[in-house]
Amino acid sequence: MTLINLKRDGTRNSPWQSLSSPAARVKPEDKIYDCLIVGAGITGMTAALLLQKAGKATIITEAHNTGFGTTGGTSAHINTFADTTYSEAESAFGEEGAQGFADAINEGFELIKTNIDTYGIKCDYEPKTGYLYAENDDEVKMLDEIYQGATKVGVPVKYTDEVPTPVPFQRALAFDGQAQFHPIKYLKGLQKAYLEAGGALLENTLVEQIVTEDEIHIVQAGKNEIRAKNVIYATHMPPNINVFNFECAPYRSYVLAVKLHSGKYPDGLIYDCQEPYHYVRTHVIDGQELLLIGGLDHKTGHEEPEKAFDDLEKYARKYYNVSSVKYRWSSQYYVPVDGLPYIGRMPLTANGIYCATGYNGNGMMLGSIAAKILVDLVSGKGSKYEKLFNPGRIKPIDGFSEFVKENADVAYHFVADRLNIKSTDSLNRLKPGTGKVVEVDGNKIAAYRDDDGTIHALSPVCTHAACIVSWNSEEKSWDCPCHGARYDIDGNVLTGPATRGLTTISNDEN
Ligand SMILES: Cc1cc2nc3c(=O)[nH]c(=O)nc-3n(C[C@H](O)[C@H](O)[C@H](O)COP(=O)(O)OP(=O)(O)OC[C@H]3O[C@@H](n4cnc5c(N)ncnc54)[C@H](O)[C@@H]3O)c2cc1C
Repeated sequence: MTLINLKRDGTRNSPWQSLSSPAARVKPEDKIYDCLIVGAGITGMTAALLLQKAGKATIITEAHNTGFGTTGGTSAHINTFADTTYSEAESAFGEEGAQGFADAINEGFELIKTNIDTYGIKCDYEPKTGYLYAENDDEVKMLDEIYQGATKVGVPVKYTDEVPTPVPFQRALAFDGQAQFHPIKYLKGLQKAYLEAGGALLENTLVEQIVTEDEIHIVQAGKNEIRAKNVIYATHMPPNINVFNFECAPYRSYVLAVKLHSGKYPDGLIYDCQEPYHYVRTHVIDGQELLLIGGLDHKTGHEEPEKAFDDLEKYARKYYNVSSVKYRWSSQYYVPVDGLPYIGRMPLTANGIYCATGYNGNGMMLGSIAAKILVDLVSGKGSKYEKLFNPGRIKPIDGFSEFVKENADVAYHFVADRLNIKSTDSLNRLKPGTGKVVEVDGNKIAAYRDDDGTIHALSPVCTHAACIVSWNSEEKSWDCPCHGARYDIDGNVLTGPATRGLTTISNDEN
């Protein structure tokens, strides 16, 4: 197996992220910006371009580099349907809510197309048909509900007997007018247009906190002080402790890019209805046709990433004539407790602070429309989606059981992580290349032994909300099972909501 994408910092690059470019540091000016955007993924970059083009002085700060976050780890399907089905949206938010959700998804989709046309972005954009198939009676029932929900909100869908999949199925739907693209080529295209329009961008700049004085938001970003009238948290999950820690659950999702012996790659975006599900699609990367196979999502820090990859590969080899696995990577998304994203004014913060989160696996369209909504709010225009996606909403119907389920799990980790601290593991049994939370002299430490035998010892207490991190053997990272913060082997923050790294512990063995 030729794997080409493991980096030392705890991330596995997706094929999109191998498209590198020098770090952008456009120094902030000594002025009050109209808007500071934190995070350079699809949400932040789309919003930045819209604002800058509308004549608003805009600056982006990004903790790592453009596309480092989930936009760089996505599988880049552009759809007219979503993980929260339109019938689920209707049962929670009524007919009007389901229609609003469908309209927002569609507008996000259209905005991507408009940007590609307007700025001439070459990003492998290709229209495709989407297929969803059911393999048993329960899934058939689910499929029928999806059909009815989509039809009701005017999303084109039809039953089909033809699906380009080797998997036997009972019933299937075809959604015409879907698409796929290369997300980083798209993001870099937006970035180019944004910089050409005079926008500022500071990469490698983590925002830890924002202070508000006389309605101006002030951020200490390294040596620079940035002042802005408005702030948009486009960080996927807003940093530090906030209401979304209790309204969104972090999930990791896995993708393989494989080569086939037979050379017969399916044409379409193909999904099953299993729980957890699988999907496949084809993409030509660097002139090489590859089959992308993804899914097997689970809550961050709760299951073995190595097993997820193994199971995904077994699935791939069962149905396709795989010759080699070229890439494997995983990334994180957030499931909102009531099914719809949170986009708008950030609750419990000063005026002029906005955020967007809880896109589920649909952030290409929802991140794009979130950008449009937030830009309209920053510009004082209001938005027709303001009420539906209001981050401060009290959910109208049902959903409470889900809320309790997700939070019971977080509460479990707060308590269980502390009680179950009697570990028999010790540092000297830790093999090179592995990590574990071990107990040494009555203290719990997150220990990783590198290939040279050196131990990297950290406090295992997540700096976000003090849960205990778990070792992710596949990505060589420490992942928090409560709210999804992630750290590299030296404790540096990879993924929020944490903004401070894990504390380093010196140990006798080194
Ligand atoms: C495996 C996988 C497959 C997916 N497939 C699809 C798909 O096919 N179609 C689809 O529509 N959606 C898909 N999604 C979801 C979609 O990729 C995401 O919803 C979307 O990329 C989120 O974009 P974003 O810009 O909001 O966040 P991100 O892309 O995560 O960007 C946020 C940025 O903020 C930065 N940041 C965070 N905290 C700070 C801070 N304190 N200071 C400064 N910077 C900070 C991060 O470094 C990051 O670069 C998938 C998700 C996963 C995990």
